Amino acid sequence: SLVDNPFSGAGVYVNPEWSAKAAAEPGGTKISSQPTAVWLDRIAAIEGVNGGMGLRDHLDAAVQQAAGKPLVVQLVIYDLPGRDCAALASNGELGPTDLTRYENEYIDPITTILSDPAYKNLRIVNTIEPDSLPNMVTNVGGRATATPACDVMKANGNYIAGVGYALAHLGGVGNVYNYLDAGHHGWIGWDDNLAPTAQILHQAATTSGATVNNVQGFITNTANYGATTEPYFTIDDSVNGTSVRQSKWVDWNRYVDEQTFAQGFRTALVSAGFNSTIGALIDTSRNGWGGANRPTAAAAKTTLDGYVDGSRTDRRIHLGNWCNQSGAGIGERPKAAPAAGIDAYVWVKPPGESDGASSAVANDEGKGFDRMCDPTYTGNARNGNSMSGSLANAPLAGHWFSAQFQELLKNAYPAL
Ligand code: BGC
Repeated sequence: SLVDNPFSGAGVYVNPEWSAKAAAEPGGTKISSQPTAVWLDRIAAIEGVNGGMGLRDHLDAAVQQAAGKPLVVQLVIYDLPGRDCAALASNGELGPTDLTRYENEYIDPITTILSDPAYKNLRIVNTIEPDSLPNMVTNVGGRATATPACDVMKANGNYIAGVGYALAHLGGVGNVYNYLDAGHHGWIGWDDNLAPTAQILHQAATTSGATVNNVQGFITNTANYGATTEPYFTIDDSVNGTSVRQSKWVDWNRYVDEQTFAQGFRTALVSAGFNSTIGALIDTSRNGWGGANRPTAAAAKTTLDGYVDGSRTDRRIHLGNWCNQSGAGIGERPKAAPAAGIDAYVWVKPPGESDGASSAVANDEGKGFDRMCDPTYTGNARNGNSMSGSLANAPLAGHWFSAQFQELLKNAYPAL
């Protein structure tokens, strides 16, 4: 039977494959025993890609690590038809209409493995389909941020049907905890986006046989860079009588960081019909923003933008930047129940794995070239037509990016 917060009183599985890559880096042993998620990012990942570990291998290793005590295993369910419709870097193997393949060749075999009684004492925590449902709110229809691929997925309903199927089937296993991906504060934190996203999550959670009881919570900041907490300014601050909401950086958002957003979005989800027991996860793997450029106090309240830009620890050029961000650092270490409404800080994006290639790279993973990963790109409507802020010479999404790993170590906050 399920507990309210699976992370409470439990260890968390350390992925030996990620751990070995991290430990092989100079300084990497500072973080190589931290738990990170296992991404099932294609059908072949269920059995293991290129001789690597498959799902059963990870679960067998987890049973060993558990040694009879409670242990969380973090999986990312990430193979929807028409995946990553607002970007190209993590496009997947399934085309927009491949819902049946998603169900029969991806979700069903995962469900079968998770149902094995050998794994019944593990607490399986799934992050469900990063970015998918938020894209169905903000990157469709008449919006300036719409993309043709997201309009296709909205019209054919396959993101909602696929997420519902995943929730119903994975959630039918007695020791599985599903957390729906909810984007991040710099995406869903605006009034136009917040309640509609809560509603679409509820729609998916009541489609294809799913119910709200198949959802234990949601996750923010998956593979993103938003600060957990901005220590030197809040959304309630003003400068010479003008709210920080009117600054260029905040731009009318209701939130300035992930934790206040997660708490506010939790309330919106309960209003939309989810159980009042739901909890949030925050991906803190790369949102530390430490290092020499981190402010150490609030800036003077001379000008509005000067105050916000001088006070914020998130040093991105624009909140919409998401690919291999220059200046980012390792964030809060994984931790259970760190704040009200938050089930855990987790490392879902494994530090050192790229968000996308800086230039076109031929591959058999379905991945495209997104110019948001090109440091010379001047942007689009989804990042306020700003420079991308990405590191140069990045490999394909998910591939090891040593230079980024080193920068993440250097800019960790709390420092390592
Ligand atoms: C990639 C996946 C990878 C994941 C974790 C995603 O951006 O598309 O292939 O497994 O990141 O690094």
